[in-house]
Amino acid sequence: MDKYSRKDFLKRGLVAGAAIAGAGTFLSYCRKPADEGSEGAVSCNDTSGLSEADLATRTQNGYVDVSSKAGQSCSNCALYTQPTGGSSCGGCQAVKGPINPAGWCNLWVAQG
Ligand code: SF4
Repeated sequence: MDKYSRKDFLKRGLVAGAAIAGAGTFLSYCRKPADEGSEGAVSCNDTSGLSEADLATRTQNGYVDVSSKAGQSCSNCALYTQPTGGSSCGGCQAVKGPINPAGWCNLWVAQG
């Protein structure tokens, strides 16, 4: 007589199949979305409407869309102006064009 009956074999097969299907489902939830990291991030780099002179205010002052300076970002800079009209990008009294609240440039000044 066989060690395992046909019924046991089928039962084990069903359990193994369910485990594999469950693992696949679990792994699909763990998968990193292709656009992760950019989802929800604000981008204020559309400078298409700026003149050369206005564009120079960004490049010459080292404007970046995401600050790498701890505790310093456009949102807490004295020269930052709040977004208007539903935009996520604000403005700046010194640097022209859309300004990311998370951005930074070398003109950063602490709010008084
Ligand atoms: S001066 Fe620089 S850090 Fe301050 S709001 Fe303007 S771009 Fe941002």
